[in-house]
Amino acid sequence: MAATQTEQVVLKGLPLEALERWAVSVGEPAYRGQQLFDWMYHLGAQSAEAMDNLPKPLRQRLTEETIISTAEIVSSTPSQGGTTIKYLMALGDGRQVEAVSMLEKGRHTVCVSSQVGCNVGCGFCATASMGLLRNLKAGEIVDQLLLARDDRQEPVTNVVFMGMGEPLLNYREVLQAAELFHDPKGLGIGAGKITISTAGVVPRIEQFARENRPYRLAVSLNAATDEIRSRIMPINDTWPIAQLLSASRLYANRPKRTVTFEYVLLAGVNDSIADAKALVKLVQDIHCKVNLIPYNDIGGDFRRPAEEVIDAFFREVAGASFPVMIRWSNGSDIAAGCGQLAVEVA
Ligand code: SAH
Ligand code: SF4
Repeated sequence: MAATQTEQVVLKGLPLEALERWAVSVGEPAYRGQQLFDWMYHLGAQSAEAMDNLPKPLRQRLTEETIISTAEIVSSTPSQGGTTIKYLMALGDGRQVEAVSMLEKGRHTVCVSSQVGCNVGCGFCATASMGLLRNLKAGEIVDQLLLARDDRQEPVTNVVFMGMGEPLLNYREVLQAAELFHDPKGLGIGAGKITISTAGVVPRIEQFARENRPYRLAVSLNAATDEIRSRIMPINDTWPIAQLLSASRLYANRPKRTVTFEYVLLAGVNDSIADAKALVKLVQDIHCKVNLIPYNDIGGDFRRPAEEVIDAFFREVAGASFPVMIRWSNGSDIAAGCGQLAVEVA
């Protein structure tokens, strides 16, 4: 059936070459693509009207035939002290996602969502309760960062794909967004400052390693035995720990790559000294570091371990050959900590 209306092209999220091609396709010189690129990614323009070095007819055409921005801030919630802000953002189709901005020690880290919801079903994560509504487009991921940057008026130094969703189940769009973050002509964020976190989609980790992507990889390990991991992360039934670790090794064996293992500490589930010893044994021959994340409450059956239990676990792991850190989430008072992001779905 023939389309009755021409679809508007979404420009946000396109790389420079695609913008140049679009410019040429509408009879404009290719350098207009560069101008669009600068307006969108450097200057944060949300509409064509703002682009005042473009000729008026082109601006008119952009307004009619393209969509520049695909997201807007609905509300922002600052944490106590204001270092962290959680943003609720609305997408073009009315769906909503959350993004978090954290200012700390001269760094501005933005945590972006990669999907609306998630269907990986980890038992300790608020996003899981939403199910998967849809993947985000690269432009919608880029917009989260630009909106947070411009609201805070602080250049972004670090990006983490640790918001809602499983980034590696939206591989193409996530990598396209990462390229724009990294591109020196785009946002110019160092590849080592862009982290993609995965629950363990093994074939995509292998692809990521094979393609020698320069970004940091964080793997949510969260347990040291298949029995415990399968109980809290159903994805482990598809890709158990041995497969996950060999994929992680593939990445970490590349020059200048270190894999980060994340380990959410859950009281009475994975926080014993025996668990700590098993964790060390699993990862000690991999070029890695380990982040221990004390569980953030989402109102379910899990609990955060007592501080002395967290300390004892840390001390046990800290004796090993790789670096280990406890990552106290910023903004857990505003439900902006790891795993606390979820929005109401109608
Ligand atoms: N889907 C990806 C990225 C989003 S989750 C992933 O699972 O890695 C980002 C991190 O938050 C993961 O390491 C996850 O294990 C952790 N997390 C999820 N729920 C949490 C909770 N309630 N408390 C603390 N960390 C949590
Ligand atoms: Fe999805 Fe990650 Fe939450 Fe698991 S922890 S449900 S993969 S967002």
